[in-house]
Amino acid sequence: MKRLVSAALLAALASTSFTAVPALAAAPIVKSNAPAFYRMMLGDFEVTAINDGTNPLPVDTLLQGMSKAEITAELKKRFLAAPVETSFNAFLINTGGKLVLIDTGAGVMFGPNTGKFLGNLKAAGYSPEQIDEIYITHMHPDHVGGLLLNGQPAFPNAVVRAQKQESDYWLSADNMAKTPAKADYFKGAMAALDPYVKAGKFKPFEGDVELSPGISSHSGKGHTPGHDTYVVESKGQKLVLIGDLIHVAAVQMAHPEVTISFDSEQKEALASRRQAFDAAARAGYWIAGAHLAFPGIGHLRKEGKGYEFVPVNFTQIH
Ligand SMILES: [Zn+2]
Repeated sequence: MKRLVSAALLAALASTSFTAVPALAAAPIVKSNAPAFYRMMLGDFEVTAINDGTNPLPVDTLLQGMSKAEITAELKKRFLAAPVETSFNAFLINTGGKLVLIDTGAGVMFGPNTGKFLGNLKAAGYSPEQIDEIYITHMHPDHVGGLLLNGQPAFPNAVVRAQKQESDYWLSADNMAKTPAKADYFKGAMAALDPYVKAGKFKPFEGDVELSPGISSHSGKGHTPGHDTYVVESKGQKLVLIGDLIHVAAVQMAHPEVTISFDSEQKEALASRRQAFDAAARAGYWIAGAHLAFPGIGHLRKEGKGYEFVPVNFTQIH
């Protein structure tokens, strides 16, 4: 940063020999960014994307259906290399009558690069006590970890909702015993949801239903057994929160046939991505993704056999 120097000081410096000129201290490097929230209006609803942090993903080993060399080349086209710094986003909808949160970030479950959701929520002008309802896309720890704060509900007044098929799967000790390789996922989901279940504040639902005026669930299975998307509509404007239908936009937008090892059913995950992305590209409504680069909101265009993601244009709210 340029420093302003007074005319008197300059005159004094000019009159002394150069060897006597004191070094002007450089401004320290700040090494931090603005609080990570981004806000837009959707009809009468206010939508706030809130970042929980980022995580470096070794996508060249996680992506399936494309060689490592091809993945590396696709990343290079977009000035990226593995591991790709990947956003963890959650979305807050203020309908005017209710505050509804979609996913919660990782909380303490993913190390020091994440768990920034609550700080960013407060910077965005809201407190966790104000959240009325939380809709979970699926129960992987990077989406439900933020439900907990020091082992207690981070959102003491909220009712948590998710697809019954999702909670039946992840909250089952029998399923955990049958799938030891995923034990940590089960434990994470149970730890995050248990306090809400015990308090009678977890209410699963079944199928595609309206959960709140203007907000509905829409199945998007495959990434997990009960992975859901949420459709938000106000005054003819529409936004679909797609959860984990995509993880690595730099590769999977142009090559939607590429899946990721986190998908529990690869074919079903691909079909859900195709269905949701085709519909969004055709109708031209907004989408928002948990792992699209923050704020993760934009539109989709059909581009050859794949898609182009067009991120939201930075917009002030008047
Ligand atoms: Zn995720």
